[in-house]
Amino acid sequence: MSAFDLKDRVALVTGGNGGIGLGMARGLAQAGAAVAIAGRNVAKSEAAAAELASFGVKTAVFAVDVTDEAACRHMVDAAVGQLGRLDILINNAGINIRKQPQDYTMAEWRQVIDSNLTSAFSCAHAAYPHMKTVGGGKIINIGSMMSIFGASFAPAYAASKGGIVQLSRALASAWAKDNIQVNAVLPGWIDTDLTRRARAEVSGLNSMVLMRTPARRWGTPEDMSGVAVFLASKASDFVTGAAIPVDGGYAAQG
Ligand code: NDP
Repeated sequence: MSAFDLKDRVALVTGGNGGIGLGMARGLAQAGAAVAIAGRNVAKSEAAAAELASFGVKTAVFAVDVTDEAACRHMVDAAVGQLGRLDILINNAGINIRKQPQDYTMAEWRQVIDSNLTSAFSCAHAAYPHMKTVGGGKIINIGSMMSIFGASFAPAYAASKGGIVQLSRALASAWAKDNIQVNAVLPGWIDTDLTRRARAEVSGLNSMVLMRTPARRWGTPEDMSGVAVFLASKASDFVTGAAIPVDGGYAAQG
């Protein structure tokens, strides 16, 4: 059996109905994992689940707003109920509100922090007992280049994504004894709905990304699937608390 094999494993991917989440979910399903998809848009989640089912794996769909802590807990328990266990959690759901800090309302601040950071803690907290039951698990939290760098138009987003890295390190330290590995993935600029909106709102973004990324291209959701399979599989059993850029070299270049 390959160290990357995910047969008999069960994964839950928040925001798995599109973009980076679906790119990662495809990788997991192709490696044999059953995959539960969570998001607010049920039609989009069902379309994603139908695509994953074509790889011959079981799927489930949950209509969840991850800013609702009780709903996160219910989703995790229901995923275990429907698919039998939980081995892999990808905390990927996320949003951005692009504004200068002085123009932010506190409600907007909380919306971004709750969507991107608090949700990751709620879902991990709910997943922990289930992972312990099966003797271990893998939690993959999605950060950003803004886990490392700042941006004038993204105060709450940068704070949430910096927090994702520190949350990953804290959970990794606490749960290594339970054979649960917790890592963060820091995508560079990936072509998704989120960044299509960003390109429309931030002038010059497209040329900045192409100039600043050594690979001279935007990433694709497919670029994110290999790291997901690695961090979800036995191949990464001694990797925990890491923050891994998948960015075409963006963070490497001064
Ligand atoms: P998309 O906008 O394509 O996907 C965002 C996903 O999150 C959707 O599936 C959406 O589903 C889900 N989502 C958002 N808010 C909620 C919520 N409150 N409850 C449940 N689901 C929610 O963006 P990306 O694929 O680009 O982004 C995915 C992650 O990657 C985010 O965390 C983002 O910050 C991060 N990232 C993206 C980068 C990029 O360049 N694209 C770079 C670095 C990080 P639904 O609408 O159905 O709820």
